Amino acid sequence: MRSLSWKLGGALLLIVVVSVGLMAYLTNRSTAREFRQYVMQGNIIHAQLAAESLGEYYAQGQSWQGVQGILPQFLMMGGERLVVVDSSGVVVGDTGRVWLGETEARLGLSGGEPVIVSGREVGRVYVLAPSTDGMMGMMSGGMMGRGMMGNGSPTVVTTAEEQFFSRVNRSLWVAGLVAAAVALLLGLLLTRQITRPVRALTRGARQISKGNLDYRVKASSKDELGELVQSFNSMAASLAGSEQARRRLTADIAHELRTPLTVIEGTVDGMLDGVFPPDSEHLTSIKEQTALLTRLIGDLRDISLAEAGQLKLERAPTDMVELVRRKLAQVEVKAQEKGVALKLEAHDKVPEINVDYMRIEQVITNLLTNAIYHTPAGGSVTVSIGTVDADREHQVSNPSLAISVADTGEGIAPEHLPHIFERFYRVGDSRARSEGGTGLGLAIVKHLVQAHGGKVWATSQAGKGSTFTVALPLNA
Ligand code: ADP
Repeated sequence: MRSLSWKLGGALLLIVVVSVGLMAYLTNRSTAREFRQYVMQGNIIHAQLAAESLGEYYAQGQSWQGVQGILPQFLMMGGERLVVVDSSGVVVGDTGRVWLGETEARLGLSGGEPVIVSGREVGRVYVLAPSTDGMMGMMSGGMMGRGMMGNGSPTVVTTAEEQFFSRVNRSLWVAGLVAAAVALLLGLLLTRQITRPVRALTRGARQISKGNLDYRVKASSKDELGELVQSFNSMAASLAGSEQARRRLTADIAHELRTPLTVIEGTVDGMLDGVFPPDSEHLTSIKEQTALLTRLIGDLRDISLAEAGQLKLERAPTDMVELVRRKLAQVEVKAQEKGVALKLEAHDKVPEINVDYMRIEQVITNLLTNAIYHTPAGGSVTVSIGTVDADREHQVSNPSLAISVADTGEGIAPEHLPHIFERFYRVGDSRARSEGGTGLGLAIVKHLVQAHGGKVWATSQAGKGSTFTVALPLNA
């Protein structure tokens, strides 16, 4: 469950340990190198100074006699060991006292600082670590032990120097550990910072999956995680929106179905109870209601297919003028009954367009029926067909074929205009259900046109008439 924290924390710890360890190791090495260099220089100078003074001592007595007695005064920090050998390599002075009488060769000493008196080498001086105690045991005094400089002077690290070095080393490790601790602390804070919103999101996802669609996660930062939280919230909001729409649709359908069913039931009950005679008037009423139910179910099927994006279009090159002409012929009788004139205005040479004939026919039928229905006697309905270029205002981005159906009817008030393409939206109770108004006509028009990659829009002036325009891309 907390594996992200562990993974992040572990990775961080590893980075800190590796980098601090590496840093300490490298610093240690370079400090050691620098330090050794420094000590060597010091020892060379020390050996040279001692050689000079011992030369003076030798010059006075022309021998090494008594040198053991004066050696301690040449010790500098008190931690090192001075060894003097005569010209034949025999140890004549040793502040450590144990090598007196030994030979350079046996001790494995070489390259001491020569003591020159009157141009003659009378002996050699070695500056050694105090614990250097025997054959080839020079290394035992410390990590540097005996070293040889280019000029052959032996160099050693004395206890004081060792102590200094180990102090440096210790502070280095302490600094490293403090850095590691601080890095770890910061790392933990950072990990918390990352895991907190992730955990909040997990909680949110659980709530949503339980159906609590109103649950929102609080955004705590403005970084990518904050963005993720925001996207999560907007996803939850759109889920809630869809759920609400689904519920509304179910309620709408129930409502729409109930009305004709109530009429049918009432009429049948009336006939059964002898209130209405079972004559053709009442039977026609029942038939109209069942026809409305059939239409409603058909419309609902179309709209649900369209909304689910499952409308399969069977496109074929279509002569739109011919299609509209046929449609006009079909509604002619109805228009004449109402006293509405039908007109067609088609520009010459309207290009063929690749559409699903049946679907577009349904679009034109819905628009024409609406127009005729909403136009009073004496008015007219005019269909115009022509090509148009891209049109920003109506979001038409390609050259299109525009088919507009204009009527001189009652028009649509501006407050209703933006909603008329919504399913079940009706302006007042403008079209009695018995006359076929399901409130789905324009919603279906919109979906079918959109499935063709086109656009549909309406303009209207209340009292003067409305114009519905469908734009279908020419190059589909
Ligand atoms: P219905 O099938 O009930 O007519 P529609 O979706 O076709 O539903 O239309 C929605 C609403 O738009 C209708 O209630 C109607 O008032 C309005 N409407 C549609 N076409 C016209 C028009 N040509 N003139 C005036 N109002 C219209």
